[in-house]
Amino acid sequence: MSTYVTANPTTGATEREFPGLSDDDVRAVAQRADAGFRQWRDTPVKQRAEVLARTAEIYEKRADELSAAITTEMGKPKAEADGEVQLAAAIYRWYADHGPELLETETLDPQGAQESIVQRRPVGPLVGVMPWNYPYYQVVRFVAPNLMVGNSIILKHASICAASSQLMAEILHEAGVPEDVYINAFASSGQVADLIADPIVQGVSLTGSEKAGASVAQTAAENLKKSVLELGGSDPFILLDTEDMSRTAGIAAKARLSNAGQACNSPKRFIVLDHLYDDFVKELVSQFESVTVGDPTDPDTDMGPLSSISARDGVAEQVDTAVKQGATLHTGGRSLDRDGAFYAPTVLTGITSEMDAYSEEIFGPVGMVYRASSIDDAVELANDVGFGLSGSVWSTDLDKAQQVADRLEVGMAYVNEHGTTLPGLPFGGVKRSGYGRELGRWGMGEFVNTRLRRTS
Ligand code: NAP
Repeated sequence: MSTYVTANPTTGATEREFPGLSDDDVRAVAQRADAGFRQWRDTPVKQRAEVLARTAEIYEKRADELSAAITTEMGKPKAEADGEVQLAAAIYRWYADHGPELLETETLDPQGAQESIVQRRPVGPLVGVMPWNYPYYQVVRFVAPNLMVGNSIILKHASICAASSQLMAEILHEAGVPEDVYINAFASSGQVADLIADPIVQGVSLTGSEKAGASVAQTAAENLKKSVLELGGSDPFILLDTEDMSRTAGIAAKARLSNAGQACNSPKRFIVLDHLYDDFVKELVSQFESVTVGDPTDPDTDMGPLSSISARDGVAEQVDTAVKQGATLHTGGRSLDRDGAFYAPTVLTGITSEMDAYSEEIFGPVGMVYRASSIDDAVELANDVGFGLSGSVWSTDLDKAQQVADRLEVGMAYVNEHGTTLPGLPFGGVKRSGYGRELGRWGMGEFVNTRLRRTS
């Protein structure tokens, strides 16, 4: 039986422990999700949408409590935590508003019959496996569309996020989602495999690392279940030209250091044309050094700790290895001399394809800057990694920037912005960043039985 432990990364102190499930509990959870599914699929679509709208309202009403929970358990600064709660509410509201229309029956050309229609039906109980970096947003972008569709959900959250995980379940139940339709399961990885293998479960969605994704996808494949994977990224930020380097570097720094750099779609590699490179590095270093790192509950703090001491140590080891292998450290490169999981904003250059940092994701406040000799060189560097989540191109010449953006091997390409996430836009990657899409109408299409009914 695993235990879920909430440790405050600002102090290092253990806050709470939550008992995990026994193996008998796991089987019972699947059976409950099956019973819940049968009830929920027959609940009228309009009623399901009303429940989602109510969920959005409760998120807004309980925003301070929700925000404080994640600041405590994973160190997100209050302003960012507040923003995440609002985004979660907006996603619930989007599906409440648009879900019923997206589930409408489609009439096809009958082609010789009296009628051919396509119905959109739920598939059954699903398992969600979610990470700690956006404890609400990651869960909600899987849960909201699937509750709208009529599927039931067993949610296994990251083991450091038990408090926020419980809060989410409580809110859904308060809003009117039956207890067996959304089940918060403090399961171990092995128990996740048992759940996926259970004939009751019809699919699994995981957001997390490549290792966890591969393991879950393997179990799903062995049991002929569909999986959706949202995995890591090492997004390129390509700078072609700028009228205001200080502003551009400021945007780059903010995007990279948001959430202490622990975002899958954060711009991790800055690829800068030769003539702008020195200026960009200078400005980026200055921006990284001006960031206030500290207590995430303090409104003056820009960047809090990493999510845990082990996460910080992992980032420190990656940076140390890069420097040992010959990369140049311009600032940072050290843990802060205080309690908690703090790491200084770090800028690295001189990374070559032989170094580990070239192909790895660094999940922390580390910006890597690459010099590109031409646009072709920039595109080649951008695409020369296993990941393909998102990427951005920055220029005053929009046509040129769009042409470059079209050459990126990613699921989300941006021009003059990076990583914008809105409820109605698709989110997902290609290559080792995973498969499937979340959010918008695409997120509602992953676990749907697109069912033909033909009458002659
Ligand atoms: P992680 O270690 O893969 O954990 C994610 C979730 O998977 C947690 O709930 C974890 O449980 C669980 N898990 C781990 N191994 C598993 C296994 N073998 N079987 C079943 N479940 C397993 O990832 P993380 O370190 O928390 O998150 C960081 C990674 O997520 C980064 O690579 C980041 O880029 C990626 N990410 C991707 C997206 C996206 O949308 N593409 C968004 C956010 C994050 P425990 O906590 O109990 O270990």
